Amino acid sequence: MPELPEVETTRRGIAPHITGRRIEKLAVHDRRLRWPVSRALPEWAQGQTIQAVRRRAKYLVIQLERGYLLLHLGMSGSLLILPESTALDTHDHFDMVLDSRWTMRFNDPRRFGSLHHGKGTPDTHPLLRNLAPEPLGQEFDSDYLYDVTRKRRVAIKQLIMNSALVVGVGNIYASEALFRAKIRPGRAARSLTRMECMALVRSIRFVLTMAIRHGGTTLRNYVGAGGEPGHFRQRLYVYERAGQPCRTCGTKIKQRTQGQRSTYFCPKCQV
Ligand SMILES: [Zn+2]
Repeated sequence: MPELPEVETTRRGIAPHITGRRIEKLAVHDRRLRWPVSRALPEWAQGQTIQAVRRRAKYLVIQLERGYLLLHLGMSGSLLILPESTALDTHDHFDMVLDSRWTMRFNDPRRFGSLHHGKGTPDTHPLLRNLAPEPLGQEFDSDYLYDVTRKRRVAIKQLIMNSALVVGVGNIYASEALFRAKIRPGRAARSLTRMECMALVRSIRFVLTMAIRHGGTTLRNYVGAGGEPGHFRQRLYVYERAGQPCRTCGTKIKQRTQGQRSTYFCPKCQV
C-alpha cells in the first residue's frame, strides 16, 4: 500500500511532467473508485492549466486555474506518464491527456483510490478539512507529541499510526522510527518521557525523509516504463525482519501482533 513516502515520491515523479501543462482532455474509462468519479469532472477540468502539484497526507492536490483535483492512490493505485497513444490496460481508470501529447494514466486494480474536484482552497474540502498535522510539518514537534500522549494508555505505535493525531505514519515507518528512538512499540503512550518524545519525533522525521530520498519502500513504477523501484526496503532495521539479527546488536528481531498489524522490534535495543 502506498504510504506517505510513496505518495511524495509519486508527486515528485509526476510534477515535472504535468506542471504548466494544459489538460486537453480528462477521459474517465471506469468511474468505479472508492467514490464514483463525478460525471461533471472531465468537462470542468478540460482546458485548465496545471499550476502546481502538492501533497496533503496521502492525497495529491493538483492545483488548476479554477480549483483543484484531489487524487488518492488508495491501496493499489499508480500513476504513469505515457505517450497518449499507449493502449489501455485492465484497471486503467482515467487519462489526463496533456498538451504535451503525453498522458497521466491512473491504474487501480483494487479501486480504493479516488478522484475529486473542487473550487476554492483545497484545505476546506471535506476529505482534507479535519486532517491532523503533517509528520514533516512544523506543528508536529516534541511538545505536540508529549501533550497528546499524556492521557493515553494506548500503545505508542498505535498512537503514532492514528491519523487523527498525525497523518501518514504507516506500519513500516512507525516500526522503524520506534527502533531508532529505542522505544518498544507496545509501551503505553503516556509512559514516554519528554526526551523520548523528542527522540521519536526526530526518528519519524528522519525515517520518512530517508524513505522519500530513496523513492519509498513499496511502490514500483510511477513514471514511464522504466520507473525506478523504491530502494528503502534494503535499509529497514526491523520491519519484516523477524528472527533475523538486529543490525545494531545482533539480537533476534521479534514480531508481535498489535492492533491487527504485525509489529517488529529488537528486545535489547528498545525499552
Ligand atoms: Zn538490537
